[in-house]
Amino acid sequence: MLAYTYIERGRFALTEKNVPTLKDPRDALVRVTLGSICTSDLHIKHGSVPSAIPGITVGHEMVGIVEKTGAAVHTIKPGDRVAVNVETFCGECFFCRHGYVNNCTDPDGGWALGCRIDGGQAEYVRVPHADQGLTRIPDNVTDEQALFVGDILATGFWAARISEITPNDTVLIIGAGPTGICTLLCAMLRQPRRIIVCEKSKERARFVRSHYPTVDVVCPEECKAFTARHSTHGGADVVIEVAGADDTFQLAWQCARPNAIVTIVALYDRPQLLPLPDMYGKNLTFKTGGVDGCDCAEILSLIAQGKIDTTPLITHRFPLREIEEAYRIFENRLNGVIKVAVSTQTT
Ligand SMILES: [Zn+2]
Ligand SMILES: [Zn+2]
Repeated sequence: MLAYTYIERGRFALTEKNVPTLKDPRDALVRVTLGSICTSDLHIKHGSVPSAIPGITVGHEMVGIVEKTGAAVHTIKPGDRVAVNVETFCGECFFCRHGYVNNCTDPDGGWALGCRIDGGQAEYVRVPHADQGLTRIPDNVTDEQALFVGDILATGFWAARISEITPNDTVLIIGAGPTGICTLLCAMLRQPRRIIVCEKSKERARFVRSHYPTVDVVCPEECKAFTARHSTHGGADVVIEVAGADDTFQLAWQCARPNAIVTIVALYDRPQLLPLPDMYGKNLTFKTGGVDGCDCAEILSLIAQGKIDTTPLITHRFPLREIEEAYRIFENRLNGVIKVAVSTQTT
């Protein structure tokens, strides 16, 4: 089968590999129908994910059809159309039992797919702990509608959940990339008083304005003053930082009102400075990233009810054999790309 492979730092290539086989009774084999490319894939390519193993098939955003299941798999069966979770987790350890599945202590726990074990930018993928890692897609939800459920939408949903948004809140979301927009959609479900999105790219700001007209969009230079002016208590009640740059990290706590929750979803390339003397007395609560992707069934149900729609994010479509070009467009942010859908049908 075709598999997009992490060869060495700076290089991925489309290679020919054997179709994976089940290694454990809890495994399932999934025929990938649609996949996507994530910024985390680029982090692997650029060598900033130390746990990534050269030789693995990359890709952790996909949907497909269950081909085969091990004897200990009970929640799904061959023929089921499923969303694949970015995280594989046992469901039994201390962290899993508390919903902290990102920190599952199983050797395959956490983000393993497309990082430490073969992922889904391929025709087939083996999914460990399939009972936890696969969620059946409702019949009225298409593959494209379900494509982001297991990763960026799970992240947005988790970010909105842990940010404890209430109806009186002004919520500031920094960054309107794909994950920022997923976070926005999930924050909107909680119906806060106001949502402000801070985005420096004019193209992305325009995308948010045109698709979500009730949301305020500001540029970073105006963000602090705008947020203060449009909040009841001098700053945002909740700040969610999804952009991942040095200046956006600083902006996040500066735009927060005293006693606010600041949720850091972003993955940074380097350490960030927490200027504690400057924020002394502000009594902030910081929550940090690493999605706990255990809400996929609920997210799929919201999609089925028409309450979340991420299909506008899919701006480009490619077959798997042209994935090189899909990466070029995505990595260089060409042609207004937000997300690409990579079709893995061999026909
Ligand atoms: Zn991802
Ligand atoms: Zn676990």
